[in-house]
Amino acid sequence: MKFSYCPNKKCKFNTQLKDWIFTKKGYYKTKWNAQPVPRYRCRECGKYFSSHTFRESYCHKKPYLNQEVFKWYASGTTQRRMAIVMEVSRLIIIRKFLFMAEIVRKAYMRRIETGELKTSLVLGSYC
Ligand SMILES: [Zn+2]
Repeated sequence: MKFSYCPNKKCKFNTQLKDWIFTKKGYYKTKWNAQPVPRYRCRECGKYFSSHTFRESYCHKKPYLNQEVFKWYASGTTQRRMAIVMEVSRLIIIRKFLFMAEIVRKAYMRRIETGELKTSLVLGSYC
């Protein structure tokens, strides 16, 4: 596995990308699908991390719902209906929506900064 930086913000290899060394240190099983995830340890700061640490869905208890909720939102389903169909609480659906909104917001900001998108402000219509 190849990682580009240490996830610990206090570690010097959080920003410095050269000569970083980490070692494999066992694994853990996720609660949602019981798949083994390798765990690693930074040799500089001693903090443990895994390949899931670098994911957008890090610390999600039900990451398998992200794609499903996105599909249902795209087809115009209400939050209450999604919660009933997926057999989860509506709060989970709301949190998934906020998670996806943040990802999209970052993607738009990145595109605006790189010049791919020619606007700096997007106005929504509520009529
Ligand atoms: Zn470190």
